[in-house]
Amino acid sequence: MRFKGFRKEITKGRYLNPFKNFEEKEILIEVRHDEITGVATRILPYRVRSAHKPDISAYLEKSPESLCPFCSPLFEKITPKFTPNIIPEGKFHRGDAWLFPNAFPYDANNTVAILSSRHFISLDELTPQTMKPAFDVCRDYFHRLAEMNFGYKYCSINWNYMPPAGGGLIHPHLQTIAGHKPTNFMQQIIFSAQNYAAAENGENLWRDLIALEKDAGERFIAHTGALSWLTSFAPKGMAGEIDFYFHEKTSFFDLTEANFEELLSGLARVFGYLYVNNFISFNMSLFAPMISNRYLWVQGKITPRFEINPIGTSDLNYFEKLHNEIICPVIPEDLCRELQLYFKG
Ligand SMILES: [Zn+2]
Repeated sequence: MRFKGFRKEITKGRYLNPFKNFEEKEILIEVRHDEITGVATRILPYRVRSAHKPDISAYLEKSPESLCPFCSPLFEKITPKFTPNIIPEGKFHRGDAWLFPNAFPYDANNTVAILSSRHFISLDELTPQTMKPAFDVCRDYFHRLAEMNFGYKYCSINWNYMPPAGGGLIHPHLQTIAGHKPTNFMQQIIFSAQNYAAAENGENLWRDLIALEKDAGERFIAHTGALSWLTSFAPKGMAGEIDFYFHEKTSFFDLTEANFEELLSGLARVFGYLYVNNFISFNMSLFAPMISNRYLWVQGKITPRFEINPIGTSDLNYFEKLHNEIICPVIPEDLCRELQLYFKG
């Protein structure tokens, strides 16, 4: 059996259009619901996209290197260290990247990994080489946790890149979470995979979803080896959502060095697309089990984020915050076609 949990409904509305002599205008509202994620999204292609790249100089002025806790000399003075049982040196270090506890944690195990000593790295400069040391320290840290037998089952690597995505500092940094319980969203997708297996003779939701999307050819961006890249049927963000799935990888510790290189190469392609399309900000999360779990293939999501001109309006509003529905002017199938060009060659 194949996954059948994507639903689409179109409703019509009408109004008298002031820009066309008050002629009657019909509008189409497409509501999508994704059973796996529980996300409902209204695809509203009549809403316009950002035509100009936002000016980042204002962010840089408000957040200069001299005040940055991730730049020297504040970095050495005011960033937290791990207790010696985790790592005697206090911080994990690879190349120019450092990983240390978050001073304002969201979780009992919430760390920060700075990419390097560079205060600002533009989206088009987020190359695999630039990102690698930071992902390496995240791996080192998760391996250390496993070695210490805390019994943690779930982890994630997360990124708020720049203030429109919730980034509190310009200085590029990842955040990790590890613990006994999955986050609410991770729990949701694990439940979906369990329910699917129960209803479909033990079949694997992720395997079937990827096969279905590949066959449909509407949202399947590329297969790059161990990874499939897709746009989401019902995006979690106003500018759409890009998803990636590691095939048959049921634990973070299944990922090899080559798998990470493939991931970073794909991320750089997505970021290149965002740069060209005037974005300066995104959220990214990679979700993974730390103890093998067939209901959670290692996977992740990227949502581009932006402020709406001319007054810097947030891309979150009452619909998403309070009604749990996303307003999305980007058509996922169009986003897929545009991204495919960046995955060629
Ligand atoms: Zn800095």
